[in-house]
Amino acid sequence: MIRKPEIMLLEESLHRRLGKYAFSEDYHYVQYGYDGEQMFKEKFPLSTSYIQLFNICLKHHQHHFEVDRMIITGESIYAFDVKSYHRTFHNEGGVWRKEGKSIKSPMGQYEQMKEGMQALMHYMGTHHNIVCKIIFIQPSFSIDQREADIVFFKEVKDIMCCIKNEKRVGKLEMEMKQYFEQIHKPISLYKQRPIFNMKDVTPGILCDVCGMKIDLGKGNGMYTKCSCCETRKSKEEWIRFALQEYQILVNRSINYTESVRWIGRAHRNLVKKVLEKHFNCTNGMYLFKN
Ligand SMILES: [Zn+2]
Repeated sequence: MIRKPEIMLLEESLHRRLGKYAFSEDYHYVQYGYDGEQMFKEKFPLSTSYIQLFNICLKHHQHHFEVDRMIITGESIYAFDVKSYHRTFHNEGGVWRKEGKSIKSPMGQYEQMKEGMQALMHYMGTHHNIVCKIIFIQPSFSIDQREADIVFFKEVKDIMCCIKNEKRVGKLEMEMKQYFEQIHKPISLYKQRPIFNMKDVTPGILCDVCGMKIDLGKGNGMYTKCSCCETRKSKEEWIRFALQEYQILVNRSINYTESVRWIGRAHRNLVKKVLEKHFNCTNGMYLFKN
């Protein structure tokens, strides 16, 4: 599963819950990346015969790099950097230009990932082939001077076919997966949290699709529908998401009393249940289980 980056959850929550909120530049940047990764995963799914890891941040000696999507087969390890660029770019080496605008070439960051992966694999002493690629997932993307390891949308199918012809994973690959998860160290993008006052933030459960206030009602029914967009979720699920939002807004672990205040006393029993099921508890403070 690709987890939505926390900065996106935070800003989307502020957008719903404050009278006025303008998304940051970081938000758009992160959203591009997230959308591209989602698109790659949805258009090119993979069976459970193989292992997939998303947004894994690895550190090995001086190398610190992120792999957007890693696929492990019985024969190879694929490390993909995924980009969501649109349209034609003019390649000037360190800079890529499009319609008068220029951006830093993504190849530098990609090379860091590739070098990091190779060093790590060497250290692990694996016999798997290492395949690193930078995938441009938007069909409209092109570049006048192509560089090694660039994959256009049209060519993704060829890579996926290769993957699907490889041996399925076994015990060794499961151990590799565990190792990667162990050494995963998230790179925090959000050094700058948006500044806001919790007093101005609308509490309670708001629909994450349309922003409408959700009234869980008094009945015993399991499910509640948004009265505007008709999104249907279990009461537990509505509460879980609202509490996760609350934790991200206050940026720390949360306690039962404030959780009840956020959701409403009428649902205190469900709040307790959700906290116990979906959060890790330390000394009465709850932190969302990711
Ligand atoms: Zn809704």
